[in-house]
Amino acid sequence: MKKKMTLGFFPTPMHELKTLSKMFSGYRVFIKRDDLNGLATGGNKVRKLEYLLQDALEKGHDTVITAGAQQSNHCRLTAAACAKVGLKCHLVLGGQEPEQHEGNLLLSGLFGAKIHFTGDNRKGEDMQLIAEQIRKEGANPYLIPYGGSTEIGALGYSDAMLEMKSQMKETGQWMDYIVFASSSGGTHAGLLAGRELHQLNSKLIGISIDKDETNGHSLETIIADLYRSVMGMYGIKNIKEVPGIELLRGYDKAGYGVITGNELKAIKVLAEAEGILLDPVYTARAFYGMMDLMDRKELKPNSNVLFLHTGGLPAIFHYSKELNQKKNAG
Ligand SMILES: *Cc1c(COP(=O)(O)O)cnc(C)c1O
Repeated sequence: MKKKMTLGFFPTPMHELKTLSKMFSGYRVFIKRDDLNGLATGGNKVRKLEYLLQDALEKGHDTVITAGAQQSNHCRLTAAACAKVGLKCHLVLGGQEPEQHEGNLLLSGLFGAKIHFTGDNRKGEDMQLIAEQIRKEGANPYLIPYGGSTEIGALGYSDAMLEMKSQMKETGQWMDYIVFASSSGGTHAGLLAGRELHQLNSKLIGISIDKDETNGHSLETIIADLYRSVMGMYGIKNIKEVPGIELLRGYDKAGYGVITGNELKAIKVLAEAEGILLDPVYTARAFYGMMDLMDRKELKPNSNVLFLHTGGLPAIFHYSKELNQKKNAG
């Protein structure tokens, strides 16, 4: 089996959201706090990076290159993890350099990452180019695709499934549903593999965050392909049938990183009811989706619903203007 290094603190807490359970009658609502996993304000990319950076070091690399949007949590956490283990880090980010660095972008710089701005390309299209450049300067870069969603990164979430299973067993509270934000596919594929390997019955509901394709592939195909490769990592090959992938597309219409009344509503509900923060891009969109499913009784009555909090806190400070305007608008 692949080895991983330690970058965060696990297991992360899992607990009931008691006020939410009262607000949504017929459901008990729980949360899994991967936003509290300890590295640089936390988030789901920490579990992936524990495998990815171990792989980079084993293969003798001295530098990591990865890519994303300017407010990429994955890039911020890669920068922090590289700082911790002594790897150099180059980030390939979409858009033009802003006058002020804020939120995740500000933090990535504080961790010492070298940042390249690549205009319309926000999904790593220019990583090879940067790799060639720095190879000429003598570096030996390890390339991590957009979102850290390789079969190696996804192993982190099959482990997370085992972790959640132990917590369910310990507390006797078994989750009927696990709801989470799904965007580059690694979390979703890893959870699916873990669910299969560790024989859990919880239904996985991914809320799609980004309606755009990645290099011409839909998220559904990316998740299915990744699932096969993750199972392959466990020695399970020639999978005939991928388990059903539930990816809800109804909440991604505004586009990636566009904050609407839905996201604001979710942020306010959880903040005011429980004192817990969601990020405006991923977790707020997914949490809104979960509330909507419960409101419309799309989830079966008298069930336990677990929200997997995947992090993203620093983006709140980048989107403060949008969050203020929405607040004033009512
Ligand atoms: C990256 C990210 C996700 C999505 O995870 P994927 O594995 O890319 O699908 C969800 N929430 C937050 C906060 C993220 O940063």
